Amino acid sequence: MSKEVWKSFEENQITHSAAHYLMTIHALILEQGYARVTDIAKRLNITRGSCSISLRPLKKRQLVLEDDNKFLQLSDEGKRLAELVERNDELLEALFRDVLGVDADQAEIDACKVEHLLSIETSVKLSNFIQLIQTDKAVVRNFLKELSRQSTDCSHNVEECDFCQSVCFFEKAAKKQAKKKAIA
Ligand SMILES: [Zn+2]
Ligand SMILES: [Zn+2]
Repeated sequence: MSKEVWKSFEENQITHSAAHYLMTIHALILEQGYARVTDIAKRLNITRGSCSISLRPLKKRQLVLEDDNKFLQLSDEGKRLAELVERNDELLEALFRDVLGVDADQAEIDACKVEHLLSIETSVKLSNFIQLIQTDKAVVRNFLKELSRQSTDCSHNVEECDFCQSVCFFEKAAKKQAKKKAIA
């Protein structure tokens, strides 16, 4: 089954771009009570034309509804998806930043990249985990302390490294850093 999962990415509920359109409409309605193509285009920094084209499949799927005055609304399903992706984004960001200790900017970027791909089941389990992490229990504090001590040291010699496999995962990043240092 797991070998087939990559195929289902194609039939995924919504694309990443669609997720951002839904979230943008959702945010605009909460902020100003309405959302028009102009508002969305401005918010996403795109042209009105490409915004209209991207909205077409969402309207066709009845996730986005348009009234006679060209004001856009989300259907219940559209709202559900927007809220789910927003929630996933928050949870993933917390997981990457507060648990794994990823730099805040990188955590935000990576959460954004995968926010629309989680199943509800995983989202609920992740929510339980983050809730536990946010408590001040001793077991949580100890776990986080232990985790922060864990480190992956790469010697750039794949035979000795526990993390790398047949090629060094860090090589490119290391070269980039070395270059940066040389310039500075
Ligand atoms: Zn995103
Ligand atoms: Zn390595």
